[in-house]
Amino acid sequence: MTTHKIDGVTLTLQQGNIVAVAVDAIVNAANASLAGGGGVDGAIHRAGGPTIMQECRKLGGCPTGSAVATSAGNLQARYIFHAVGPIYRDHSNEAQLLKGAYQSCLDLAEQYQITSLAFPSLSTGAYGYPRHLAAPIALQTVIEHLHKPTSLQQVIFVLFDEKTLQAYQKALQPLLADD
Ligand code: ADP
Repeated sequence: MTTHKIDGVTLTLQQGNIVAVAVDAIVNAANASLAGGGGVDGAIHRAGGPTIMQECRKLGGCPTGSAVATSAGNLQARYIFHAVGPIYRDHSNEAQLLKGAYQSCLDLAEQYQITSLAFPSLSTGAYGYPRHLAAPIALQTVIEHLHKPTSLQQVIFVLFDEKTLQAYQKALQPLLADD
């Protein structure tokens, strides 16, 4: 686990399972239909219980590159932000869509005035986005946001496997040097 301060906000990179993290909002790596899936999405719905899916059905879907909020069922968190990252496929505007998915979560954090937020590594599982390309986009989007006034006091990247944690640690170094 590594912890850094960005304009007074704690930014943590840690390995683990996001459903177990005690924060105001957990980000889900959802798909555009919000219909449920494997990976983080499966873990969140299993641990959080059926009310999350009931709310997802009412929302009907979420465009790629953005995010929508539901309550968090049985989880400790107050909200789930369901973010839809791009499938890594045609290499056109995927970076922009990935950035948009993170930015939408940060915008929801301000809308709900939450103080702590946990992200998984969006798009780098079933959606196939290479970790070494996704990590700098994720981190840069968060760091840029933390340079502005924010309700957030803590942002945690909860990375499931060692390789993903290492990719994020590597990507963070040059971004910290800029600050
Ligand atoms: P996507 O479809 O956006 O690629 P996935 O859920 O397949 O989403 O994978 C995104 C990342 O989340 C991958 O690095 C995967 O290993 C990781 N992951 C899977 N389960 C969990 C979990 N419970 N907590 C945190 N990260 C997880």
